[in-house]
Parts: sequence; C-alpha cells; structure tokens
Amino acid sequence: MAKKDWEHGIIKVLLTEEQIKSRIKELGEEITRDFKDKEEEVIVVCLLKGSVLFFADLCREIKIPMKMDFMTVSSYGNEFESSREVKIVKDLDENIMGKHVIVVEDIIDSGLTLKRVLKMLGHREPKSVSLCTLLNKEARREAEVDVQYIGFDIADEFVLGYGLDFKQEYRNIPYIGIMGAFDGDE
Ligand code: 5GP
Ligand code: MG
Ligand code: MG
Repeated sequence: MAKKDWEHGIIKVLLTEEQIKSRIKELGEEITRDFKDKEEEVIVVCLLKGSVLFFADLCREIKIPMKMDFMTVSSYGNEFESSREVKIVKDLDENIMGKHVIVVEDIIDSGLTLKRVLKMLGHREPKSVSLCTLLNKEARREAEVDVQYIGFDIADEFVLGYGLDFKQEYRNIPYIGIMGAFDGDE
C-alpha cells in the first residue's frame, strides 16, 4: 500500500506560510513594545505540543531579554475537542513568582484548558500573566479568558498544521489547513 501523502485529507489552505509569518512579526513587535521597559524578568511559556512551531517563530520576533519554558497539560478529549479536566503532565522548570509570564497557545476553542492553566499559574504569584494565541475560535467559547494577543480570529472549523494535529499527525505541515469530512476509520 502506498504511503499516505503528508497533506492527505486537507481540502483547503486557511492561512498560508506567508500570512502566518507576517502576522507573527506584528505580534512580536507588539510584545516587544509592551515588555521592553519592564524591570522584572519575562518568561515565555510554550504549551506543548500544539504551539511548538508558533512559539519558535514568535520568540524570534520578541526582541527583549527573556527565558523560554515549556509546559504540557493533559487532554483526555477526543480528536476534535479538548477535555473538561486539565492536569499538568510536565510542569515549568522556572519559578515564575514576581515575573512576567506570557503563555503561548496554538488555538483557543472552548477556553476551558486556558482558564485552568491560567488559574494554576496565578497561584504562583507571577507579576503578570498574558496570553498569546495564534488562533481564536470565538464562536466556541465556553469559559471566559482574557487574551491579550491574537494572531487570527477564525470560524468554527477544525484546523490543522503548523503545530496543530489530527491524531498526532500533520503538526509538520507549514501552513494552517482545513480537514475534509472525517471518514471514521482514518
Ligand atoms: P479548549 O480548551 O480551548 O477548548 O481547547 C484548546 C485545545 O483543543 C487546543 O490547544 C487544541 O489542542 C485543541 N483544538 C481545539 N480546536 C482545534 C482545531 O480546530 N484543530 C486542532 N488540531 N486542535 C484543536
Ligand atoms: Mg494547545
Ligand atoms: Mg490535539
């Protein structure tokens, strides 16, 4: 049997590499401007795994001294949705007390994951916590979250690529695409 094409099932390109790149440059400039005069340390947090490509590209556009850190939270939901319960699988290495934390997320859908993550981080008494998401699906919001930096507002469609997966695949696609009808045995 022939190996699947790496783009199999993608029916439409929603955001091209060029669109993503130029928007990230703007977000980096905004963040740089907002934090360049802060005295406290800045820690930029990558929520694994979905935001890995966005995080790597965004950090290159943030032109101030900063530290990177990584966090994995569990999601026992299905392929299309996150779960209602959030647990820390891999915690931050850094102590964030008194520091400015910028959480980088791939997509905010219901907002349930972020709401819980922000609450957990808030207990550690950081100086501030801001949120930067590449994609925002406002129509699906269930929990209110304050998002300071949004790459793109998108409609309620299942997207993948540029870090976002379907059953752990497609994260290496360099653009954001939309998946065709789900056939059930893929
Ligand atoms: P929330 O808690 O905001 O509903 O869930 C956010 C998480 O659900 C994202 O970090 C992502 O892992 C997953 N998710 C939500 N919408 C999509 C989507 O359209 N495509 C993909 N690949 N994952 C999504
Ligand atoms: Mg995510
Ligand atoms: Mg996923």
